[in-house]
Amino acid sequence: MLSDIETLSSDKYEGRKTGTAGNLMAANYIINKFKKIGMDAYNDDFKHPFTFINRRNEEIKGVNLIGYIKGKSDQVIVVSAHYDHVGVNNSEIFNGADDNASGVAAILAFAKYFSENKPKNTLLFIAFDAEEMGLQGAYSFLKAPVPPREYIKLNINLDMVSHNDKSELYAAGTYKTPVIKEILQNADKKTGITIKFGHDEPNTGKDDWTMQSDHGPFAKENIPFVYFGVEDHDDYHKPSDDFTNINPDFFYSASNAILKSIILLDKNLARINP
Ligand SMILES: [Zn+2]
Repeated sequence: MLSDIETLSSDKYEGRKTGTAGNLMAANYIINKFKKIGMDAYNDDFKHPFTFINRRNEEIKGVNLIGYIKGKSDQVIVVSAHYDHVGVNNSEIFNGADDNASGVAAILAFAKYFSENKPKNTLLFIAFDAEEMGLQGAYSFLKAPVPPREYIKLNINLDMVSHNDKSELYAAGTYKTPVIKEILQNADKKTGITIKFGHDEPNTGKDDWTMQSDHGPFAKENIPFVYFGVEDHDDYHKPSDDFTNINPDFFYSASNAILKSIILLDKNLARINP
């Protein structure tokens, strides 16, 4: 897992900005992992290209990467993490180790786990592109989702899960869907970290993270979501978001707690969608 973060956030990948060579390298790295794990694909190469118009009125090409592990039921949980970042600015590379090589490394490890321990529901693993350009990959996926919208019952999104000094990981999305909070009650037990709530609740004094990352478009479609991430840190969207500045112990513990959460959510999906 750590080597995935180290590789994806190395200078060679030039900050993985959508539409650049570094971004394409990252996509190919992830696809090779998907293949090694033995995930199923909807097409030959796991690639789902899309285009969008950016703020400067230019057409930009992005590519979502989608693989899945079939469960016993047709119901689908989307487990996602964006792989793009902001690229190079004033000849400084923004490596995006925490944002979001960490989330990608974690979902790759989860995919491997579930390829060996079959889930109850179908798990769709998506590495989204163009999150940093306004959640474009997620919006594009939801325009014409494979599988169809009615099968998609939950989104579990990871964005920044490796950098926190207080051993705190937040789960947002439980205000709209309170049963998720009950299901996750013991997910952090014996992991060494605490799962905290409140970044989607009014009157907590905490800002609302509902539209902060790729779970936002799912929320707009009224698909329940859980977003796992840390509060902003000093290296957030800075060239110093490097592999050397993440907290490996926290990352391992957080990933463990999120994996436990996914297992619980998969088991209890009927409670979320009665
Ligand atoms: Zn991010």
